[in-house]
Amino acid sequence: MGHTHHPEITLSLTDLDKRHLWHPFTQMAEWDTPEHEPLVIVSGRGSWLRDQYGNEYLDGNSSIWTNIHGHNHPYINEAIRRQLDKVAHTSFLGLSNEPAALLGGRLTSLYPGFADGRVFYSDNGSTAIELALKLAIQFWQLIGEPQRREFVSFERAYHGDTMGASSLGGVPAFFERFSGFHFSSCRVASLEELELLPDPRRFAAVVIEPLVQGVAGMRPWPRGMLRDLRQWCDRYGILLIADEIMTGFGRTGSMFACPQEHVVPDMVALAKGLTGGYLPLAATLIARPIYEAFLGDASRTFYYGHSYTANPLGCAAAMASLDLFEQERTIERLAPKISVFRKLLNDLSRHPCVADIRQIGFIAGIDIVQPDATSFPPENRTGAAVCMAARRHRLITRPILDTIVLMPPLCTSEDELALATSAIAQALDDVVSHST
Ligand SMILES: *Cc1c(COP(=O)(O)O)cnc(C)c1O
Repeated sequence: MGHTHHPEITLSLTDLDKRHLWHPFTQMAEWDTPEHEPLVIVSGRGSWLRDQYGNEYLDGNSSIWTNIHGHNHPYINEAIRRQLDKVAHTSFLGLSNEPAALLGGRLTSLYPGFADGRVFYSDNGSTAIELALKLAIQFWQLIGEPQRREFVSFERAYHGDTMGASSLGGVPAFFERFSGFHFSSCRVASLEELELLPDPRRFAAVVIEPLVQGVAGMRPWPRGMLRDLRQWCDRYGILLIADEIMTGFGRTGSMFACPQEHVVPDMVALAKGLTGGYLPLAATLIARPIYEAFLGDASRTFYYGHSYTANPLGCAAAMASLDLFEQERTIERLAPKISVFRKLLNDLSRHPCVADIRQIGFIAGIDIVQPDATSFPPENRTGAAVCMAARRHRLITRPILDTIVLMPPLCTSEDELALATSAIAQALDDVVSHST
């Protein structure tokens, strides 16, 4: 592949970036150092990304857990173009639009138990959760139980970065600083701990990442936990909010996570993979009884929305992504690749610097340790160093502390999976031999 950009141009891009931009979850003092030359991604195709010099990398974390069918997919591209030729955006306040209506019908029939439910659109995972929390608060007020005003979430949970969503967050490094500004929520480690809480009828809702916690380091819940949680919620009339922002759209091996335990939540937050990883769009699915409580006079209205709610381009991309699940039989074809992935991870687990590996469908969390099996000193940030080294072996991914995350697009082939796991092994060798 030829160089499509002149170095002078990209130099000025990185210059501009380093002079004017502020990156998420990034220590900018390090970013801004002269030695650091950021990768500028200029194009993508399938599971691959290309930088300013024409180097290609496997997108090992699906561009932060969003991409599903690959980059630059002609079918999704075409769907967006077709919508673009009609109209890019119109308000959803007092108006509707074609792709939003079509997508609403599709999502409610796709998610088991929501055939008579409703879809409330927003822009990202955090807002999908934010509005679910506000809906829950207003719901209990409307049906005459305003004392239900507390939320339960889990230790090491991650539900987004807005003030409300982050009030539920259980990752101390991200959220502790703001704890005095968050609304109080009840944080538990397990279902057992939840069952011990006094006075459960004070709770409005429990929020959970079903089957697996993502930011916690790809940590699966015990099998059956979700089903038992549903029963506990039902016993006390508490709403169950499923955060399927990471797990949705095939990531765990099935279209959604909750149906694996035959659980129907009261609300479901969908975002990341909703548009195939193309555009920022989120959808919160809401069960019928909640919706009905809001019907009546103006005082019962849900006063919530964003300027770009139900963006037609995003909805068109989401429709195209759902088409592809059918046309390319994405879920069916994923099953054998999940087995290959398991075998490759099993091989990787024999590396002296690999401790535990947790795999859930097409998601893996790989814990790394020193060759003597002790943890790396946290201040070395070895996970980050390994991911930087992996770039030299054609893999881009991001760690969570000393857990390397591997969750490529669902279109990733068996050969590409092998490249990814071997890149991690080689990167580990590079980093460990360098530091000893
Ligand atoms: C990414 C994520 C969020 C937040 O979504 P954003 O689109 O980044 O705001 C919430 N919950 C889970 C489980 C996530 O993985």
